[in-house]
Amino acid sequence: MRIATRGLRKSFGPHEVLCGIDLDVRSGEFLALLGPSGCGKTTLLRILAGLEFADAGQVLFEDEDVTDRSVHERGLGFVFQHFALFRHMTVFENVAFGLRVKPRRERPSREAIRTRVDELLHLVRLEPHARHLPSELSGGQRQRVALARALAVEPKVLLLDEPFGSLDAQVRRELRAWLRRLHDQLGLTSVLVTHDQEEALETADRVAVMHAGEIVQIGTPEEVYTRPAGPLVYDFLGSVNVLHGRLESGVLVLGEARVVMGGPTGAGADGVAMAATGVATVAGTRGGRVGTSPPDGPVGAYIRPHHVEIVPASDAAPGLTARVRRLHVAGPTVRLDLACAWGETAAAEISHERWSVLRESLAADGSGEPGVGLGGAEVGLRIDPARVFLAAAESFPAKRPGGRAEPGGSVSESPDRKKAKP
Ligand code: ATP
Repeated sequence: MRIATRGLRKSFGPHEVLCGIDLDVRSGEFLALLGPSGCGKTTLLRILAGLEFADAGQVLFEDEDVTDRSVHERGLGFVFQHFALFRHMTVFENVAFGLRVKPRRERPSREAIRTRVDELLHLVRLEPHARHLPSELSGGQRQRVALARALAVEPKVLLLDEPFGSLDAQVRRELRAWLRRLHDQLGLTSVLVTHDQEEALETADRVAVMHAGEIVQIGTPEEVYTRPAGPLVYDFLGSVNVLHGRLESGVLVLGEARVVMGGPTGAGADGVAMAATGVATVAGTRGGRVGTSPPDGPVGAYIRPHHVEIVPASDAAPGLTARVRRLHVAGPTVRLDLACAWGETAAAEISHERWSVLRESLAADGSGEPGVGLGGAEVGLRIDPARVFLAAAESFPAKRPGGRAEPGGSVSESPDRKKAKP
């Protein structure tokens, strides 16, 4: 089922939580609403559900205006983080509940309810637990019961608000892969609220990134990750270095270092590889949307750690060097925490293969300090301008709770925070 909103506005007291949301969810689509805490995701989902009503604007299902319809009239399935299973009812009874409370003329027969619940328990792989109470299940199993219960009434639309937020990372990963398969198998249209970028990027067909009551970008996971519409999106989707420098006639100045931005393919004056594609730039709008190149002056240069190339210091352009403060080798890549020559910290991520080659050349030229795994070694940095996203200083994201990107700081992590709701 197609869902759309037009100009949705909602305030709580003086605080405007949704500032005119236009959203189109395609039939059969899995859409994630992604954004930091308090940006209005849950409020938007609750308005779609009919659990909350907007001050202005419309909600349309298949072009039909359902703005004033109650939650019951909308016939949707929901799953929330804090699943309220009936504690005194078995798993079977919990799943059957939505069918048993239907008005008599719509209620299936006892036999039909049994068949439907058995099918659902099979679907969520919980048949052996049909007679158990919720207290006898793990968190992941309880969440699967909540999903089966939501699906019992055969909704066309499934609304999910951080459904796996209270579970541990491994279980969450398994459940979201399973949820995605279920969505495809049943031909649902699903809207998932999450602040977990990995969850959104892995599960959804499209991701709508929200900030302060607005949708700042909507696109496929690849689009929002590789072509973020502004610093806010860049910052929110994955770990990113924010280097603070100046733009001077197309040259990014970081202390003594010069990185020529844009221009033709080939080596720039500073020896940095340059790409023909130029550079993504943004103007300083509230949402940080793509605009024209920032003017000369203070800028933030956004670059992901895996796009920072590490070379021996002797091969680096003047000033483009750093000391390795810490090495993290336990993981799929090697992560280097760097103290850059221009006074900022940054992070780089390279492959284990690349690191072993580099390690040998650093040891050979005496850059490394013996006994500390080359921590403290001086390395060179290569920054491909095509991988850099420049933002005028005034469009930097404001510092937010959770230690995200802030001007003056350097690396912003996308946290996998657990949502603490009462
Ligand atoms: P989180 O991930 O932390 O739940 P969110 O993006 O889902 O955040 P919402 O729950 O939609 O955000 O809340 C948006 C803002 O609206 C918050 O500032 C919140 O305090 C406020 N808010 C939400 N519901 C109410 C309410 N019923 N009364 C007053 N303020 C509310």
